[in-house]
Amino acid sequence: MATIRDIMPAFDLLQPTSIAGARKLLEQHGRDAWVLAGGLDSFDWLKDRLKKPKTVVDLSGVEELKGIRTTSDGIEIGAMTTLTGVVQHPVIKEKYGLLAEAASVVASPQIRNQGTIGGNVSQDARCWYYRAGWPCYRAGGNICYADTPVGRNREHAILHANRCVAVSPSDTAPALIALDARFVIGTRKGERVVDAEDYFIGPDIDITRLNILQPGDLLTAIRIPSAWAGARFYFEKVRDRNVWDFPLLNVASAMVVNGGKVERIRIAVNAAAARPLRLTAVEKAVRGLPANQATAEMAGRLAVQGAVPLQFNAYKIPLMRNLVKRAIGGVQEAT
Ligand SMILES: Cc1cc2nc3c(=O)[nH]c(=O)nc-3n(C[C@H](O)[C@H](O)[C@H](O)COP(=O)(O)OP(=O)(O)OC[C@H]3O[C@@H](n4cnc5c(N)ncnc54)[C@H](O)[C@@H]3O)c2cc1C
Ligand code: SF4
Repeated sequence: MATIRDIMPAFDLLQPTSIAGARKLLEQHGRDAWVLAGGLDSFDWLKDRLKKPKTVVDLSGVEELKGIRTTSDGIEIGAMTTLTGVVQHPVIKEKYGLLAEAASVVASPQIRNQGTIGGNVSQDARCWYYRAGWPCYRAGGNICYADTPVGRNREHAILHANRCVAVSPSDTAPALIALDARFVIGTRKGERVVDAEDYFIGPDIDITRLNILQPGDLLTAIRIPSAWAGARFYFEKVRDRNVWDFPLLNVASAMVVNGGKVERIRIAVNAAAARPLRLTAVEKAVRGLPANQATAEMAGRLAVQGAVPLQFNAYKIPLMRNLVKRAIGGVQEAT
């Protein structure tokens, strides 16, 4: 179980000043190294003594990883750019407002000032049992404490559960999927660029991680192509309190409407499963249809097909149905 202490345990703190330096250190130390970005997730694990790395590679001195650049086809956001930096960037606000909106509702202003976009998409699950150090599947054990008749599972998954029913807690992840972003990863074999939706994995692939990063890997940047710049965006997050709270569910969509019909759309939800879910069946079904309430209604129903509630989270099914409905048809006629 977790022993909450105010002080850090001892570890070797390495502070590279370049991407190449950081990559070299991570390769050298492999499984013994922990990547430190803003520290908001990392510090909990370290102080609770639940993760005990020998070495911490602090990225705060790597200027190359910070900032937002315009490219020939969109923008590139350095992994160490703060969430506040993302929210306030003029090009993101003007062309990719979906991401600015999603980042603006992450936690609190202080957390957004310190937390980074790379850390936000790489953060770990927030399941109570796992964070408290219970020896569950995700922690290497052989039981799930949340998926029992009396387990605390109000925040947990309704889709794609596989032994573990924890969810991905990131608000920016579904917005990045809707914007068709690409994640740039430095690996032992060189640079790898993956679609946003492929960065995240469920327990069917690996129950101990929420993303594809292997020991030694470094997320360096996130690229957003111009294809969806200025599209009709919708982001909505539902949480218990309007400050400092993770999503119970969120939805992000980018839609191009032509002549009243849906010409192109990308839509994703998060906190419904261990990875953010791109709703490709919904995208396919609504393409070419009028962007109206009847289409939205159908999309909402389709989105929750196959959803299975746990003891205390059945509310997530109508919630997800309505979020998808609103993402496509607007809020005015939602029930
Ligand atoms: C009280 C509280 C409330 C919060 N509420 C929300 C919320 O409502 N919505 C939401 O989306 N988030 C929320 N968060 C998460 C927060 O926004 C941070 O974004 C997140 O915890 C991690 O960002 P960080 O920069 O602090 O990264 P860190 O905590 O340092 O890192 C997080 C993880 O990512 C890995 N990592 C970080 N950067 C890289 C990289 N470049 N390459 C490889 N691995 C990397 C680290 O090794 C670590 O495993 C909350 C956090 C707290 C503490
Ligand atoms: S939901 Fe996942 S993280 Fe939570 S107790 Fe079950 S196995 Fe562990």
